[in-house]
Amino acid sequence: MCSIGEDDFGDEGATHAMLPGSSTVGTVITAGSCNKCGLNSLELYKLNFRAAECHECFLNYARHKFRAALGAAKALPRNAEVLLLVDGSAESLVLLDMLHFAQTQNTFKRLHCSARVLHIDARASPSDNDPLSTLNELRKRYAPFEFYVIQLGAEVHSLQLLKDYSASRLDSTENKLRSLTARQDYVRQQRKRLISAVAIQLQCTHVFEPSISTSLAAQLLTSVALGRGGSVALDVALLDDRLQGGVSLLRPLKDLNEQEVQFYINAQQLQPFQSDDPSRLSDASLQNLTSAFVVNLQLNYVSTVSTVFRTGNKIAAKRQPIVEVPSTCALCHSELDSGLSDTLLAIEYSRAVSEMGVALQQHDNMEALEKRARQRLGSVKDLCHACRNVQAELTSGSLI
Ligand SMILES: [Zn+2]
Ligand SMILES: [Zn+2]
Repeated sequence: MCSIGEDDFGDEGATHAMLPGSSTVGTVITAGSCNKCGLNSLELYKLNFRAAECHECFLNYARHKFRAALGAAKALPRNAEVLLLVDGSAESLVLLDMLHFAQTQNTFKRLHCSARVLHIDARASPSDNDPLSTLNELRKRYAPFEFYVIQLGAEVHSLQLLKDYSASRLDSTENKLRSLTARQDYVRQQRKRLISAVAIQLQCTHVFEPSISTSLAAQLLTSVALGRGGSVALDVALLDDRLQGGVSLLRPLKDLNEQEVQFYINAQQLQPFQSDDPSRLSDASLQNLTSAFVVNLQLNYVSTVSTVFRTGNKIAAKRQPIVEVPSTCALCHSELDSGLSDTLLAIEYSRAVSEMGVALQQHDNMEALEKRARQRLGSVKDLCHACRNVQAELTSGSLI
C-alpha cells in the first residue's frame, strides 16, 4: 500500500492536484458558471487575483491588455506597417493570435494596421528540429498575413517568403566569442540589427516584440549586470527607438504575465515550438541564470516580478552633452557612456594596472598609468562599455 505523507507535497503540493492545461500558478477548472457574464461554461479560467471566468471573458480580458498597452501610449499610428516577430515561444504565438484577432474585428473595434510576420532562423545547423512545417500551418491559420524567414547572421537581401525558404550554412562571429554570456549578448544585438534591416526592407515602420512582464524583468536585471544600466529603461519600455532607420520597436504584451500567456495558449490551442539551439538555453550564462532566478521568483512571490520590471521605467541615465562624434554605440545603438562615468575610467585604470604591472614596478609612473587608462577608454570610441566587454571576448577579428 502506498500513502503520500504531508511532507511529500512540500512547496509544490498544489502541482499534484493540477488539471491538464493549468500552470503552476493557477488553474483551468472544469464546468461552472462564469463570474463575469453568468453563463455556464465547460471550462473556467481562474487567474490569480481574478474570479473564475469563461473562455470568452478570459480572452476579452487578455486581449484588452494588448489593446490598452497600444492605445494608452498612442504608440501605433493609424494604418502603420507592422513587422511581427514569431520565434516559436508561447508569447510570440499569443501576440500573433491577438494581432490577427484585432485585425478581423468590425470597423469600430478593428486595429488599423497591416502586418507581416518575421521568423529568424537561429538553428545551429539546418538539420536541427525544423520549424518550417509548423510555420506553414501558422501561415494558413493566420491568413492573409505574409510570413518571411531569414537566417540569423545572414545579409538582409537573403530575406525570403516562408514558402520559398531554405536554410544554408553560415559562418558566424558568435562562434568566435569565448563565453556564453558574451555570445548571448552579441546575438541579442545582432538580432536587433537584423530586425531593423528587415523592417526597412519591407517598409515597416513598427516592430512588435513579444516580451511579457516576466521576460522583461529578467532582461532588466541582465542588462544591469552586463553593464547596460545606462540604457536599461529602453530595454523594458513599451517603445524602444534605438532601431536603425527610424523604426520603432513596440512591446504590446509587456503587461501580460506567464500565467495569462499559458491560459491563452490553452484557450486558443496554440502550439509553441522551439526554434533556438537548446544548449543555448540550458548552459550557464549570466542571462540564463538571471531568467531562472526570475522564473523562480515569479513562482514564489507573484507580485515581485512586476515590481522589478516597473522599476525599469524609472531608471534613466544622465543625457550626454551634445558632441559631434557618433554618440550612439555602433553595435547596440544605445547612447555612448564613456564620457559619462568615472566608474568606467576606474575599470580601465585597474585593467591598465594589470596590463602594465611589470613596467610599473620599474618606473613607478602613475601618470603613465592614468594616461593608459584614458587611452583604453577612448580606444574603441564607437562602442559602449557593455559592447566593449563583448569585443574583449572575441578571439579574432572585430565585432563591427
Ligand atoms: Zn463569461
Ligand atoms: Zn553598445
